[in-house]
Amino acid sequence: MRPTVAVVGGGPAGLMAAEVLATAGVAVTVYERMPTVGRKLQVAGRGGLNLTHSEPLDAFLDRYGSARAHLAPAIERFGPDALRAWSEGLGEATFVGSSGRVFPEGFRATTLLRAWLRRLDDLGVELRTRHTWQGWTDGGALAFTDRDGATITVAADASVLALGGASWPRTGSDGAWVAPLQATGVDVRPLRPANSGFLVAWSEVFHERFAGTPVKDVSVRHGGMVARGDLMITRDGIEGGPIYALSSRLRSTIDSGTAALLEVDLFPNTTAAALAARIDRRRPKDSLTTGLTRAGLAPVTVGLLREATANQPPTSPRALAAVLRTLPLTLTAPQPIARAISTAGGVALDAVDEHAMLRARPGTFVAGEMLDWEAPTGGYLLQAAFSTGVAAADGVLAYLDTVRS
Ligand SMILES: Cc1cc2nc3c(=O)[nH]c(=O)nc-3n(C[C@H](O)[C@H](O)[C@H](O)COP(=O)(O)OP(=O)(O)OC[C@H]3O[C@@H](n4cnc5c(N)ncnc54)[C@H](O)[C@@H]3O)c2cc1C
Repeated sequence: MRPTVAVVGGGPAGLMAAEVLATAGVAVTVYERMPTVGRKLQVAGRGGLNLTHSEPLDAFLDRYGSARAHLAPAIERFGPDALRAWSEGLGEATFVGSSGRVFPEGFRATTLLRAWLRRLDDLGVELRTRHTWQGWTDGGALAFTDRDGATITVAADASVLALGGASWPRTGSDGAWVAPLQATGVDVRPLRPANSGFLVAWSEVFHERFAGTPVKDVSVRHGGMVARGDLMITRDGIEGGPIYALSSRLRSTIDSGTAALLEVDLFPNTTAAALAARIDRRRPKDSLTTGLTRAGLAPVTVGLLREATANQPPTSPRALAAVLRTLPLTLTAPQPIARAISTAGGVALDAVDEHAMLRARPGTFVAGEMLDWEAPTGGYLLQAAFSTGVAAADGVLAYLDTVRS
């Protein structure tokens, strides 16, 4: 008889595990709580679907920080080139964007996902949607509530848990798996927002006027890290690529008990002297705001200057230029995890063995963002989800070989 494997969670990690297992001849059923699979992948597709990154593998692996050693075997086994070839095999050739990021030519997830689901269907993978995993029965079977709220139990030869993190819960990933895993003795690190925005106590005047306004091409600095790009002012704080890039460091500072001071260079392409000369052209009877606007500063830039100086900006052009190049913003907390791009924390890496199997539950494997790793945006998140999906499937195949021989 063919071995049976239950894959729980129909995101990139779970579906990739399903593909590898079904290709090896295993009877696979994917259980997914939402009406359709791959919802977070679809959301990622709205931003162009940055599948992976083209930088050399050593630099690529460094993006996973302290999880590098754990993830390296999975990413070396199924890395950026393999992922690109896989995408091409599904009819979505990829290209390298100017930043080195890799995208499918279609620039979205829908076509890729549709072709992938066709392939999985051809391989005989069964999809059971609207099935929410609740944990294990006393006898060790997987317990689900189905679309009618009834409890069903599933006893498979092995299972892969690929339930994602807790960001964007409307896509189905809500982190509710933490409780059953902890109850079974698995060490789960607290789920935290990663690649997230941060809260700033803006004045009412500022957020009323500028929430939703971008601040173009700035450089931000914190704790020795620097990132460049566009910021977005939100009602209660600040977000955008450069903030996400620093978010892990900012979060650590806040965790240590202090607010995080972010230094923003609003004019990274200009010297302080050139900026001072530009500001100095304002007419003597201009108010500060009129003068700075006349000097070509965007209203949001002037607003930020006022926020950062408690509405007491210096008056001399040289001092003004200095503040605009090193604008201090106090970030008090990360935005809630529901708004983050990804999740830090999760199943502790030493809670799984080198085959991605839970030490506390032999026969149960873990893949994707529910593991305790984090990485910046740039394709590193999806790459790790796909790679750990392959690794978990490899682990299952090795396990099935052992238990069935
Ligand atoms: C706005 C946004 C943009 C992004 N853009 C990119 C990008 O361009 N590049 C990139 O690399 N990454 C991006 N990411 C991150 C990337 O999408 C995730 O890292 C990736 O989807 C994680 O894959 P996963 O399979 O581990 O989890 P998920 O994709 O979250 O899949 C987990 C699945 O498990 C299901 N599930 C959860 N709990 C249960 C349960 N109890 N029972 C049954 N099913 C359950 C969920 O419904 C979900 O379908 C983005 C994320 C967001 C939110």
